[in-house]
Amino acid sequence: MSLPQVTVVIPVYNEEASLGALFARLYPALDALSGSYEVIFINDGSRDKSAAILAEQYHVRPDVTRVILFNGNFGQHRAILAGFAHARGEHIVTLDADLQNPPEDIHLLLEQMENGYDYVGSIRRSRHDSWWRHLASRSMNRVRERITHIHMTDQGCMMRAYSRRIVDTINQCNEMHTFIPALAYSFAQNPTEVVIGHEERHAGESKYSLYTLIRLNFDLMTGFSVVPLQLFSMLGILVSLGSGLLVAYLLARRLIIGPEEGGLFTLFAITFFLLGIALFGVGILGEYIGRIYHEVRERPRYLIAGILEAEDGQQ
Ligand code: UDP
Ligand code: MG
Repeated sequence: MSLPQVTVVIPVYNEEASLGALFARLYPALDALSGSYEVIFINDGSRDKSAAILAEQYHVRPDVTRVILFNGNFGQHRAILAGFAHARGEHIVTLDADLQNPPEDIHLLLEQMENGYDYVGSIRRSRHDSWWRHLASRSMNRVRERITHIHMTDQGCMMRAYSRRIVDTINQCNEMHTFIPALAYSFAQNPTEVVIGHEERHAGESKYSLYTLIRLNFDLMTGFSVVPLQLFSMLGILVSLGSGLLVAYLLARRLIIGPEEGGLFTLFAITFFLLGIALFGVGILGEYIGRIYHEVRERPRYLIAGILEAEDGQQ
């Protein structure tokens, strides 16, 4: 059985408008590569015609195409995990279905793999996202990098290449919630990044809002590091020192000068300040407890309704 050199994993959720253009550019780009390849599409419970379009494409190129059909919407990263579990290639490339990253640039990633890198991230040459998104992701990126030590210049860019070893390691992880590029980075021995093209979403709408962008960064920080918890306990120490001093001062004042009359609102201010910090701490604890909750349930990460693949599963 001959294994393909490259596996391209593409999660698909409500992308009926993009898929035609994707096929028209992806397959020629892959055919132009010197090695063999396979493409794995994961239909993440699309509610439009994506599944039917993927099935059609499977019949056009059954030799190099496999389609995994989920039985609901489990999210982009779990879709990629399912693709990884079925990938047979030596190098595994992930790509979005919306053509924001040109499939013609896949060879740039693969060249770096040939040069001995085991993780090739990507940086969008010019971002066509809105300015607030640009700003939001830049600043969150910086905080996240300091906390997790995961270096990703452009975390929004899913077009990346991973070695078989990294994907095998990811396949051994049972995390319910994860962010593939960061997880892969933590297993990489020799990571690098390349600059690739970037286009507007071909059609349809982004599945992510500003809220999900913030969530993603929170998930990254709490999912890949306990620094937020540690920072919080350090903050707790500082605040208790400060309030200890305040109590000592007020006590001394009470004994030396006598009872206070005013100062009610100062007290409010201090109380609200401390309350805010306490609530923030409860929130951070909640993030970690939520993660633990999801992990201990050990529910299946995704359910596969069916797989379209050639009988012998080879080219
Ligand atoms: N996607 C998915 N499941 C989801 C949401 C998105 O499989 O629940 C896929 C989507 O079809 C696309 C990729 O993940 O191929 C990235 O999604 P999108 O383009 O909406 O994200 P953005 O580029 O805006 O970050
Ligand atoms: Mg996109």
